[in-house]
Amino acid sequence: MSRVRVVGGGMAGSEAAMQLARLGHEVELWEMRPRVSTPAHQTGELAEIVCSNSFGGEELHTPAGVLKAEMRRLGSLLLEVADTCRVPAGGALAVDRAEFARGVTQRIEAQPGIRIVRDEVRAVPEAPAIVATGPLTGSDLAGDILRRFGPLLAFHDAAAPIVTRESLDLDVLFRADRYGRGHGDYLNAAMDQATYDAFWEALVGAEVTPGHDFEDVRVFEGCMPVEVMAARGRDTLRFGPLRPVGITDPRTGRRPHAVVQLRQDDTLGQLYNLVGFQTRLRWGEQRRVFRMIPGLEAAEFVRYGVMHRNTFLNSPRLLEATLECRSEPGLFFAGQLVGVEGYMESAAAGILAARNLDRRLRGLTPQVPPPDTMLGALVRYVAQADPDHFQPMNANFGLLPPMERPPADRRERKLVMAQRAVSAMERFMAAGS
Ligand SMILES: Cc1cc2nc3c(=O)[nH]c(=O)nc-3n(C[C@H](O)[C@H](O)[C@H](O)COP(=O)(O)OP(=O)(O)OC[C@H]3O[C@@H](n4cnc5c(N)ncnc54)[C@H](O)[C@@H]3O)c2cc1C
Repeated sequence: MSRVRVVGGGMAGSEAAMQLARLGHEVELWEMRPRVSTPAHQTGELAEIVCSNSFGGEELHTPAGVLKAEMRRLGSLLLEVADTCRVPAGGALAVDRAEFARGVTQRIEAQPGIRIVRDEVRAVPEAPAIVATGPLTGSDLAGDILRRFGPLLAFHDAAAPIVTRESLDLDVLFRADRYGRGHGDYLNAAMDQATYDAFWEALVGAEVTPGHDFEDVRVFEGCMPVEVMAARGRDTLRFGPLRPVGITDPRTGRRPHAVVQLRQDDTLGQLYNLVGFQTRLRWGEQRRVFRMIPGLEAAEFVRYGVMHRNTFLNSPRLLEATLECRSEPGLFFAGQLVGVEGYMESAAAGILAARNLDRRLRGLTPQVPPPDTMLGALVRYVAQADPDHFQPMNANFGLLPPMERPPADRRERKLVMAQRAVSAMERFMAAGS
């Protein structure tokens, strides 16, 4: 049994600490909140979700679904807890954010072998350790990483606003899921062309939070602020988060010109978030412009959209695909800090780093899951991408090696790739990995 340190009790650190404790190690889990917070977190709970309450698709033909299937086989704590606090979200796995974070915190507090230290870590710890301090890593630690491993990279990520259900006009909004997949989980605001045009003009003319360092850092395409997307063209949003395909307005019996969707944010259904509305508009402007959406005229905002600088390592220069630091055996990095993007991707990286730290401590060579698993493909990308153009990566089918005889049908092809990935992960685990 060894004593190990995990720094950061977010998505990756929570998974890592639990894996290591279950493998018999004594874990010190360092989390700086609530003593020191980040610009995006609001509580002192472990595994706090900072933006969307959705963990993405669950169906096996989606990349997020494949990753989850693999994580379940690897014993994911986060998915165990997510199953206990789901909220309806069609084919996606969405959770009550407060119950989720509380659930993870309670499980970790109750786990023998884990001691939680509520303090900020200011320097990279000695091995054996995992650093999983996320995109909003404390500045002293970030400075020490920079001194020891070279410059950190950065991009901007934004969060969407949340409104109360009681402030919404439920005579105007209607329940529907795109293409009827789900059980009427989303609230929809239909827009005709005149309403959409007026909304678009207000949005592109609205004032944003002053830029300090925003201009010189790129925005992650997968989490682009709604006003940045709108500025690309009058119809860009209609092909993005406001696309009307698969939705029929019950009042007209027709497909609307555009649709804003609201997703339930808590188990009781009292809070809803605006899907795809991550933004850096000033708060007053969010009230003014988003209340132009039909049914949201009196919307009460319990959280406004915000934008943050996210930092990550130049992993292709520093890390093996096992997530171990090339220059310091026994020191691992995990989570968004390594350049994966997304809650589940970060958590999965935490699981892998922990399993490999365990192997290192047992005198075994750290391992990477096979390249045809989603996790194996993702960490290979992170370690082997072009270091001069490295950007964070989500789980996606483009990472997986092509099939020899792919089915012609796209959905069928994805399903076969997904089944191949899950079987490969099962074989990897059966081999004692
Ligand atoms: C504003 C914003 C919105 C995002 N929206 C989404 C989204 O909608 N969907 C999605 O899938 N992903 C989103 N992400 C990206 C990403 O998936 C999440 O940030 C995810 O939480 C990353 O997991 P992590 O474990 O790497 O980091 P985190 O979950 O952030 O955990 C890191 C932990 O380390 C702690 N910490 C930091 N520095 C120190 C220190 N020096 N000492 C001790 N503790 C420290 C922090 O307090 C935090 O608890 C968003 C990120 C940001 C910043």
